Amino acid sequence: MEKRRELYRGKAKTVYATDDPGLLVMHFRDDTSAFDGIKVSQLEQKGETNNRINAYIMGKLGAAGVATHFVRLLNERESLVVSLKMIPVECVVRNVCAGSMAKRYGIAEGTRLPEPIFEFFYKSDALHDPLVNDDHIRILGWANARDIAEMKALTLRVNQVLKPLFADAGIELVDYKLEFGHAISDPTGPLLLGDEFTPDGCRLWDLSTEEKLDKDRFRRDLGSVIEKYREVATRIGVPLQ
Ligand code: ADP
Ligand code: UDP
Repeated sequence: MEKRRELYRGKAKTVYATDDPGLLVMHFRDDTSAFDGIKVSQLEQKGETNNRINAYIMGKLGAAGVATHFVRLLNERESLVVSLKMIPVECVVRNVCAGSMAKRYGIAEGTRLPEPIFEFFYKSDALHDPLVNDDHIRILGWANARDIAEMKALTLRVNQVLKPLFADAGIELVDYKLEFGHAISDPTGPLLLGDEFTPDGCRLWDLSTEEKLDKDRFRRDLGSVIEKYREVATRIGVPLQ
């Protein structure tokens, strides 16, 4: 496998083509951003930490029957993934009320939800990722009804796998965001989980102290951001350098 030209530089990762049109290199940088790119910083060791955590979680999800784009780790900061045509929506599941949901409905952060709540957001920094429903997605042509149902089912299935995985390490999976797409080599094939699962895209609280172990440490200037990401990694059994 040969790494070729840069295709896309996002806020935290860079995606490169390879000599295989069906595969991409995903490079995890140290860049950290919040509030749709308004707050930006470099956090030492973030790239390698998230690359490792993501590889571990994608492996666990794959083993549990959730098809993902992850192929293999290439080096400290890079993973080989299947090239996807991404659906421009973010799929969020919440076990505990926090973040934008707490703000939107005036509910205290930390309120336990009797069942997981699923939400779709339209992926657009310029529009601040607005909350959307199935009709917006289907009628505006971002995904068809089958993919919408599948994204919901897969995102909730991920909760069944990861909630106990984190709980076994004394960590509460508060909420998380997933992105899906179809392999460009198989556009009518199954949906694959893309992008990443790392503390950048979820909320993780210590089960006994409620200490935040995720990107809210960066958003809210709590310090020790990567130290806590690495603590999560160690607690769930991710091998770090
Ligand atoms: P953002 O685009 O939100 O700034 P990142 O810096 O994380 O985010 O950039 C990664 C980009 O790559 C995202 O837009 C994501 O949707 C996209 N992506 C993730 N996985 C794949 C994949 N397998 N194939 C194509 N694009 C992908
Ligand atoms: N999230 C994300 N990227 C986004 C928006 C949200 O990874 O563009 C994650 C976020 O880290 C949290 C979950 O999705 O784990 C729910 O986020 P929320 O809607 O509460 O928004 P936030 O307050 O994080 O902006």
